[in-house]
Amino acid sequence: MAPRKLAAGNWKMNGTLASLAEIDRLLADHPAPGCDVLICPPATLVHAMAARAQGRIATGGQDCHARTSGAHTGDIAAAQLKDAGASHVILGHSERRTDHAETDAQVAAKAVAAHQAGLVAVICVGETEAQRDAGQTLDVISAQLAGSVPDGATAANTVIAYEPVWAIGTGRTPTNDQIAEVHALMRDRLAARFADGADFALLYGGSVKPGNAAEIFAIPHVNGALVGGASLKAEDFGPIIAAL
Ligand code: PGA
Repeated sequence: MAPRKLAAGNWKMNGTLASLAEIDRLLADHPAPGCDVLICPPATLVHAMAARAQGRIATGGQDCHARTSGAHTGDIAAAQLKDAGASHVILGHSERRTDHAETDAQVAAKAVAAHQAGLVAVICVGETEAQRDAGQTLDVISAQLAGSVPDGATAANTVIAYEPVWAIGTGRTPTNDQIAEVHALMRDRLAARFADGADFALLYGGSVKPGNAAEIFAIPHVNGALVGGASLKAEDFGPIIAAL
């Protein structure tokens, strides 16, 4: 099985019910995309988006708690996302690692919870600019993969997104060689650890736009993208989907 191609959108803390009109536009413009399409809206919109997309676009959460229920004010369990219509959940995004001090071990625990609830975990890794400048990128990515991806991961229940922190929302992207180097490393690490490691979908994320998507998708072991700002509008996300 070759990795499935996936165009994933991360709306972050953007969007209201009115924003779901973008789903209608996407479906109208791209009735038969050549890849899987996922949008992860804020939790407030998961149920409405899943109902609106009718399975033609998958819906995901942006985080979940490691426990199944209980006294965790403001948190959401993986099974609750599933109940609301989600099929995926982003875990370990750098904004969560920074804003909420999430560790690799916490991300791995959340991924186990996601898997138990039947969700696909989209696990994010990525170096800071200081780490890249210090020549630590490959070590950082290796450590994050080892620590954030749980033993029960399979190509069916886990997607990995390489998102350099310094490329997120900045308009800056790594060179094609830099992306290729990290994706090759991730493929090697996953293949060494998991029987189906060759089949995990590996996404690149960080300032993916209609203008650079095709070039990025041509890089070996890039099986799609995790897109932030350019996933908010169908006129931007549509051409990215079409490029994959
Ligand atoms: P960006 O965000 O596309 O706006 O750079 C990507 C992400 O954070 O997933």
